[in-house]
Amino acid sequence: MAPAPIVELQGVVKSYGAAVALKRLDLLVRAGEFFTLLGPSGSGKTTTLRLIAGFERPDTGRILLDGADVADLAPHLRHVNTVFQDYALFPHLTLVENVAYGLRARKMPKAQAHDEAEKALAAVKLDAFAGRKPAQLSGGQRQRVALARAMVNKPRVLLLDEPLGALDLKLRHQMQAELKKLQHDTGITFIYVTHDQDEALSMSDRIAVFSHGEIEQVGTPFELYERPASAFVADFVGSSNLWDSMLLRPEKVRLLAPAAPVPAGFEARPGVVREAVYLGAVTRFGVMLADGRALSVMEANTAPRAERLRLVPGDEVLALWPVEACVRISNNNEGEV
Ligand code: ADP
Ligand code: MG
Repeated sequence: MAPAPIVELQGVVKSYGAAVALKRLDLLVRAGEFFTLLGPSGSGKTTTLRLIAGFERPDTGRILLDGADVADLAPHLRHVNTVFQDYALFPHLTLVENVAYGLRARKMPKAQAHDEAEKALAAVKLDAFAGRKPAQLSGGQRQRVALARAMVNKPRVLLLDEPLGALDLKLRHQMQAELKKLQHDTGITFIYVTHDQDEALSMSDRIAVFSHGEIEQVGTPFELYERPASAFVADFVGSSNLWDSMLLRPEKVRLLAPAAPVPAGFEARPGVVREAVYLGAVTRFGVMLADGRALSVMEANTAPRAERLRLVPGDEVLALWPVEACVRISNNNEGEV
């Protein structure tokens, strides 16, 4: 049986003056999930988090936590904590004081609060720095303090709004893995906001793709990538070739010599290489097919292929893909891709 719903939005509408931020949102997150809200800037992700946290109220619709309507519940009475992108640490307090702050505000005795705070700092591998001030930390370490401060309250649900946005790529990848492990080890439900599709794919159990205040699709990373429900999802999650409601991912295509035999179960089209961009692990090709369609191809630079893939613009090729790699998109009315 699927775990119980822990957060539910039912028919939620939210406007700021004349601007409609959320059109009519339905969302269901289950206990223990790593659930991601993915979408471009302005699509309504932060608004959704703020509604769940209780910083905003919906115009209409219901918000349920553990099955109970929380319309009239203040933020601090919800079993929900938020980690913001800017961390919002107190500069004059040490790390342990920063993390213990919420516990002290709730009248926990100082010794006990500091004990809990030290445990939370240990969970994010910062116990050795407990006496430092935020200014004495790197960006990644500050991010971890913000995380410890949210986790120390043992929330049922942790809301994270682009928490890694300020970090450089390498550190971001490292923190992604750590966050994922922390979520797994604690079993806390994470609702994670990002506009980065790689981040969403690598961390999430399920993802809701947002566009213009609406959810386009909810699914596992596999479902979204392999079976996108709309052209918007196909394009936002990965790159794609889209022809009349048919999707073909660039990495499913191989480029062969023009006269190569076509195995059973494959489709093949002749074309000419227009562009070849070497990216290290992969090379990206732009191919103009003989029928006039543009085809984007991604070839892995694996050992035997690397030699063969010295293709340059002007070379004639045969583009080959398995028949089943070309999938139909049910709703293809979302503009140009
Ligand atoms: P995201 O987090 O996906 O970038 P937001 O939820 O922040 O998107 O914003 C959704 C829409 O609501 C945007 O058009 C934004 O300009 C608008 N919006 C958000 N907060 C406010 C606000 N406090 N006042 C007016 N408009 C807002
Ligand atoms: Mg936002």
